[in-house]
Amino acid sequence: MIAPRKTRPIRVRDLTIGGDAPIAVQSMAATQTRDIPRTLNQVRILERAGADIVRVAVDSRADVEALREIRAQTSARLSVDLQENYRLAEEVAPFVDKIRYNPGHLHHHEKNKSVEDKVAYLVGICQEHGLAMRIGVNAGSIAPAYKERFGEDDVGAIVRSAVDHCDLVEARGFTNYLVSIKDSDPRLVIEANRRFAQQRPEVPLHLGVTEAGMPPEGIIKTRIAFEQLVSRGIGDTIRVSLTLPFDDKGEEITVGRAILADIEAGRFRSVPPNFYDGLNIIACPSCSRVENDRFVDLAQDVKQMTRYAAEHDLTIAVMGCRVNGPGETDDADLGLWCGPKHVNLKRGEEEVGAFGYDEILPRLKAELDRLIERRSIDARS
Ligand code: SF4
Repeated sequence: MIAPRKTRPIRVRDLTIGGDAPIAVQSMAATQTRDIPRTLNQVRILERAGADIVRVAVDSRADVEALREIRAQTSARLSVDLQENYRLAEEVAPFVDKIRYNPGHLHHHEKNKSVEDKVAYLVGICQEHGLAMRIGVNAGSIAPAYKERFGEDDVGAIVRSAVDHCDLVEARGFTNYLVSIKDSDPRLVIEANRRFAQQRPEVPLHLGVTEAGMPPEGIIKTRIAFEQLVSRGIGDTIRVSLTLPFDDKGEEITVGRAILADIEAGRFRSVPPNFYDGLNIIACPSCSRVENDRFVDLAQDVKQMTRYAAEHDLTIAVMGCRVNGPGETDDADLGLWCGPKHVNLKRGEEEVGAFGYDEILPRLKAELDRLIERRSIDARS
């Protein structure tokens, strides 16, 4: 039931992705990378679950040093996530098999340097060390130039950004790369990946619904996107992003494999009626950038506490860190992003305040009640 794929094969060390290779399943460590024992434990949990690749994030030299040690103690294929700190690529390259950069984060550092030069630098590192690359575009962090050009058309912006970056890396003679185009809404993921695959059918795609949240809703969102794309021959590797306790992260792999097996066997699940109506909780899967381990419990508590508002068409976003939290809560009606000691509460793009982990739930409830009340007044008037 999976249409043949047309992509060119790429190599991540000894693993082939794309072409007629089996669809690879991967995940990401949710630990602070510099906590070596915990990160190694997380890598092993994911490997035992069957992960083909494990991603870790680096934000600092301490993370790079940790990765050196982690590399020495595991043979897992490692991908490194460079967010704003793309210059760490040269330091981390000897310890990994793949580098992921986000075109929407390249503008943060060295503002006088062009995007072309930054991409050329990253391609040079991959070429020198024989690494694969992922151009990882995300609707929550669209590069300012594309935001300006495309306005509200997020799909147009992320597809164009991905295509342009393909041109940039290929201009350097580099083809050992793939692309991901993610969002928390499966409908946008389907549309954007279909459009990209039409324009660049030879480029392998990494699929994922980011910030899908907690099971079962997070699994349903992911399944909706994968069924539509994979069955049409779009998608060469997948990542299921679920908000789960550290010890349960292997579930991302088992769920991903189960979805692929169902698609292969033609077992499709219909979208539950009214799935897109009512309260939508977006939550990130957590990663090394989480500064307080209470994040996962908080996300679960938010889901529990807000059940009374299930009928209301509202989105609440719960994000684990200050890197992506502020931007990726902008589109939600209410947003929370976690710092080391405080949780920041937002109403759309507006900051409401920062509150202790023990104070945040009643604050969120007060905001939610106010929002529901305002909507009901608007509906009556
Ligand atoms: S929002 Fe922050 S903590 Fe959550 S997955 Fe993204 S980078 Fe990691």
